[in-house]
Amino acid sequence: SHVLVCGGTGCTSSGSAHIVEALETEIKKAGLENEVKVIKTGCFGLCALGPIMIIYPEGAFYSRVTPEDIPEVVAEHLVKGRIVTRLLYDETVHKDEILSLGETQFYKKQHRVALKNCGVIDPENINEYIAYDGYQALGKVLTEMTPADVIQLVKDSGLRGRGGAGFPTGLKWSFAAASENDQKYVCCNADEGDPGAFMDRSVLEGDPHVVIEAMAIAGYAIGANQGYIYVRAEYPIAVKRLQIAIGQAREAGLLGENILGTGFNFNLDLRLGAGAFVCGEETALMTSIEGHRGEPRPRPPFPAVKGLFGKPSVLNNVETYANIPQIILKGADWFRSMGTEKSPGTKVFALGGKIHNTGLVEVPMGTTLREIIEEIGGGIPNGKKFKAAQTGGPSGGCIPASHMDIKIDYDNLLEIGSMMGSGGMIVMDEDTCMVDIAKFFLEFTVDESCGKCVPCRIGTKRLYEILDRITKGKGEMEDIQRLKDLSKFIKENSLCGLGQTAPNPVLSTLHFFEDEYIAHIKDKT
Ligand code: SF4
Repeated sequence: SHVLVCGGTGCTSSGSAHIVEALETEIKKAGLENEVKVIKTGCFGLCALGPIMIIYPEGAFYSRVTPEDIPEVVAEHLVKGRIVTRLLYDETVHKDEILSLGETQFYKKQHRVALKNCGVIDPENINEYIAYDGYQALGKVLTEMTPADVIQLVKDSGLRGRGGAGFPTGLKWSFAAASENDQKYVCCNADEGDPGAFMDRSVLEGDPHVVIEAMAIAGYAIGANQGYIYVRAEYPIAVKRLQIAIGQAREAGLLGENILGTGFNFNLDLRLGAGAFVCGEETALMTSIEGHRGEPRPRPPFPAVKGLFGKPSVLNNVETYANIPQIILKGADWFRSMGTEKSPGTKVFALGGKIHNTGLVEVPMGTTLREIIEEIGGGIPNGKKFKAAQTGGPSGGCIPASHMDIKIDYDNLLEIGSMMGSGGMIVMDEDTCMVDIAKFFLEFTVDESCGKCVPCRIGTKRLYEILDRITKGKGEMEDIQRLKDLSKFIKENSLCGLGQTAPNPVLSTLHFFEDEYIAHIKDKT
């Protein structure tokens, strides 16, 4: 038997390490240590039900397991082969029949591409990654494809940057490839800073080798021999697993000099970020890697021409890279068979807030918000009504109930004044005050503004003050126009993406819920 225990951050914080300890002790007591293998994996997605454990070959999905349950699990399931039904995830038990996970509401409409190996393999063991086709794409690229072939394939796939802006990845690579220079760099943005977002963290924790492999492929495509992963120091599990994975890849000859005997050299190093939100902006991230204070630089010049250390560079986020090896192996048509015409593939969302199934979901682009909230997310707790979902964190906007049937992709979200963002999705119920939500995000951007330019440094502060007085019943009707004018000014005049998008939560809540602003002002509450 194989016992997979989730070692993602959600389950780790609900105590999965104690489950592993208890399992090892009980398995030893039962004398099964040669027959049963306990594997600590990455995130299964259903964080709300942690700690989670799956026992194969039966595929029994146990949720909310405690160390006290383990003696029974070992004695009943592992020794006698009898599933402990009281611990099974409710949805898998249907009329005395145990359903597979793929048949449950939570997983039925999901399609795992970026998260393919999360919750499946032991992220600290390169052999498990290799057993699931790992490093085959790198082998294929180095032995069968030219750099131009790789870029064309990524272009044909239509993959767009999963960090939020949705820029075509292949096009970005082609710009860096076209920049003549003897030194180029490949960077990975693992600085996920949106409140409520943990998509990239889960990929790094559950499948670190996929990022390493994809970065080596990008290096080959643009002509770079050095990569940097810029990862938040607040992600200790991700950092540790990346360090282990990089060490294993080096040892296996998959990083370093003369990879797979092809003459291609590619090294990879980690750089830890100290948790400044602005360091998710590409030029600030590069400035920070260079050892300076993480402040954005004006563009142009764009990083593809003059990026890290003044050299042509490519920066993609973790989820974007997580798609690359499969695109190489399965082709552009396969990738385009998922999602919408202009946004092919899937998107990972971190579902949080007022929703039953808090956790990580991956769905084809074009899935509706209703499907995510009502089916996958299991609806709103306590019989409350859905009011809105905030996508894109502090740079994004809200989607109200009237747009629940919108097909989620980059362009549709922009059309209604929101933004895909990196994938945080915070659900709000009828009791949530939308002015409070706008104020929450503004407080965040005021804190995180690097202060380099005035529109953002001072403007976001003034926006926050107006929101604050409205929520305290001290607003006046003119404040609504002031919010709109100031937002427009900040968007148009800020230097980097942080300031340019900071007013979005204000504008989108004003657009859909202006009546709540007016009610605060009129009722003086
Ligand atoms: Fe810094 Fe804000 Fe200006 Fe960006 S927009 S450079 S975060 S002050």
